[in-house]
Amino acid sequence: MTDHDLPLDFGDPAGLEALRNELRAWLAAHPLPKRRPDEAPAEFLHRWHRRLYSGGWVGLDVPEEYGGRGLTALHQVAVSDELGAGRAPGVPRIGYLAHALLEFASQEQRARLLPRMLAGDDVWCQGFSEPGAGSDLAGMSTYARRSDDGGHYLVNGQKLWTSYAQYSDYCLLLARTDRQAPAHSSITAFALPLDRAGVTVRPLKAANGDDEFCELFLDDVRIETAERIGAEGDGWSLAMTTVNYERNALDTGHLSKYGLLLERLRQEVRERGDGVPDGLVSAVGRCVVDYQVLVAHARRRTAERLAGRVAGPESSIDKLLMTRAEQRLYETALQVLPDELGRDGGAVYGEYLYSRAASVYGGTSQIQRNIIAKRLLRLPSAS
Ligand SMILES: Cc1cc2nc3c(=O)[nH]c(=O)nc-3n(C[C@H](O)[C@H](O)[C@H](O)COP(=O)(O)OP(=O)(O)OC[C@H]3O[C@@H](n4cnc5c(N)ncnc54)[C@H](O)[C@@H]3O)c2cc1C
Repeated sequence: MTDHDLPLDFGDPAGLEALRNELRAWLAAHPLPKRRPDEAPAEFLHRWHRRLYSGGWVGLDVPEEYGGRGLTALHQVAVSDELGAGRAPGVPRIGYLAHALLEFASQEQRARLLPRMLAGDDVWCQGFSEPGAGSDLAGMSTYARRSDDGGHYLVNGQKLWTSYAQYSDYCLLLARTDRQAPAHSSITAFALPLDRAGVTVRPLKAANGDDEFCELFLDDVRIETAERIGAEGDGWSLAMTTVNYERNALDTGHLSKYGLLLERLRQEVRERGDGVPDGLVSAVGRCVVDYQVLVAHARRRTAERLAGRVAGPESSIDKLLMTRAEQRLYETALQVLPDELGRDGGAVYGEYLYSRAASVYGGTSQIQRNIIAKRLLRLPSAS
């Protein structure tokens, strides 16, 4: 199945090699699906999600009682790694939402929501950013006013960049529940069913042609108190848990995918020999270094997770390294393989375009640098 060394080969703790073999056999028996001409990318990925789930390949590190396989983070990483190496479509991006629910939702909510999320029966989106609150998430103005009897909230406001909301059943929504209290203790999270009265979803088209982004308008939306995730004011901690998992380089299958493309670039440069301009050789060399640094870092992170360490602000380092590696790799690919991967319908051109967004989604690169400076290096602020 794989034609290069897997970047995250950890040997064979806890039957990992058997799991990898099981997945390779499953992939061989289940040819990768092709996107139908009338199928939106999100619909295709959802079909793939359900197929993966039916094989037991979603939620490896989620406890069995919530629909997962009760294995470790390492097993989840190995599955992502194998899927990337097998050139399979992306791994369902639900790990960070599942972790938020595992940590903050009640036992009843976890039992009800998680199995359906993992199975792809319910698709979830993330309603954090707003027109005036992206980097400064704590400045959000969507407001959830609790009823006098305490039984429900009425929510008003607008979310922006809500990925794939038009295909989603639930939104993990953040709203302010106290306008007087400090921002970080006045934000609350909700599991909002998107078919609720007062919710309007308006898709926006991105440069790569995908309809990923949405605006989400909330007009007097009634959310029951039982649909709140965690206590009032827990929303900021939940958001940080979510983005810290979202910013890691482990669960995506990206590393093995980068490895495959990088190997192609090296091979091309080798074959063309002296005809390749020096600048291009150096560019490929820089990609190799970025990739190796990223892999070394991802190995360390996996070992930390296995030791039970919860993702924290150091995930900002992962995010910066991953962004740099991905953006340089696709920029270089366009130069080395322009005919094959270039603008005219080349598959990698879409990935190149999407790589530009890596320095924005999940928190911009400038914000990651601020977090590293303040929270990891403890540098004094300029003001
Ligand atoms: C592909 C993609 C998918 C996304 N999906 C979702 C989603 O599903 N759900 C969701 O809630 N959000 C989503 N987002 C939104 C994303 O989280 C925000 O775009 C991001 O946090 C930046 O916020 P902003 O766009 O409002 O930019 P702004 O916060 O307005 O920033 C504009 C510029 O100013 C810089 N800047 C701002 N503050 C500082 C500072 N203090 N110091 C230095 N520089 C600063 C930023 O780095 C940036 O360059 C997505 C974004 C993308 C690109």
